[in-house]
Amino acid sequence: MAAAVRSAVRALDNGQLVVFPTETSYGLGADATNPQAVNQLLKYKSRRQGKPLSIAVSDQAMAERYVELNDQARQIYQRWLPGPVTVVSPGRGAVASGVESEFGTLGVRIPDYPLVLEIVRRLGRPITATSANASGQARPYAILKLLARLTPARQRLLDLVLDAGQLPVNPPSTVIDTTLSAPVTLRAGKVAVSDAADWRLETFSPAETRQVAGRVVLRHWDRVVQAGLVIGLEGELGAGKTVFAQGVAEFLGIDEQLSSPTFIYAAEYAFRRHQASGQLYHLDMWKVDTRRIFDRLEVGRLAGPGRVLAVEWWNQVKAWWPASQAARVVVRIEPGQDQRRHLNITNSAVDRAVNHTSDTARQP
Ligand code: ADP
Ligand code: MG
Repeated sequence: MAAAVRSAVRALDNGQLVVFPTETSYGLGADATNPQAVNQLLKYKSRRQGKPLSIAVSDQAMAERYVELNDQARQIYQRWLPGPVTVVSPGRGAVASGVESEFGTLGVRIPDYPLVLEIVRRLGRPITATSANASGQARPYAILKLLARLTPARQRLLDLVLDAGQLPVNPPSTVIDTTLSAPVTLRAGKVAVSDAADWRLETFSPAETRQVAGRVVLRHWDRVVQAGLVIGLEGELGAGKTVFAQGVAEFLGIDEQLSSPTFIYAAEYAFRRHQASGQLYHLDMWKVDTRRIFDRLEVGRLAGPGRVLAVEWWNQVKAWWPASQAARVVVRIEPGQDQRRHLNITNSAVDRAVNHTSDTARQP
């Protein structure tokens, strides 16, 4: 083990890529503070479309040098780490660019795998903790299978492989976002830290509601690209449905200000985000109160790959909405005191099923 640790530390210190075992599949490590090393890693993964990387640290003290931990996060560290949980916190901008998310957040894990902890401790810096497969490929639990799926060009990017044999086939880590008012499970793994499928959270300002909207779209980004995403918005007048739709637009990089389309039913905005381009349709179903009117609008035809539909007054039309391949998320907003809003976000069954397979390729 000592020799393996030494060569891994040397390789990482030189900006090289190292495949290492964890309790949740083989991971791909690069010095997360070294821009060249991270670039090599992104080249290897490819097609990540701005998805953040997570990092592995050796202990909480090391984590605190790279992220700000709040009480929520500290409790999760105490309870679950080391273990198969990735905790997302506000980053301190101390890692190479491309590692933190576009929101400036950073996912941190402490693998329950002594070899990895020893390597990171000796290196004195965090390493990336993405799974070792190329994007879109199966999560690797055995080195030979991993290598067999790689093109020679990809294989050459791997400088060192720590082969620990066949690993137990565990699900990827549970990813918990602690940067909002309540912890939110971004990906469910073995550990159930909180309700995985649905989010219930409170926002304290329109800006926070817009942020949540961005995260919802990010969470379903694969679906947006492959099949499209329908976001049903429910809540009384003034609840914040339009604010939420504005957050979706902001996330998609749309500069135009969205206003409520009440009298025109639908407004269309083109977007381009990373390698994907498409349209956002902002729909208002307030006046659509009969099946006949709904059918005439043919809104179901708007759904498709690259299309995001933000549908206000979803409750009015949900029974009529055609069952298409587009994934659906329903956001119910209820006003509380002052600027408080309760958000209840549920994902449709079709989305859950698909998400499960498309999410598996990401982090260990
Ligand atoms: P709707 O489209 O549901 O009728 P709007 O989004 O047009 O509602 O309006 C919501 C109003 O509530 C806005 O004036 C917004 O500034 C205000 N607001 C206050 N707090 C929040 C919050 N936490 N989230 C969203 N909107 C909020
Ligand atoms: Mg509105």
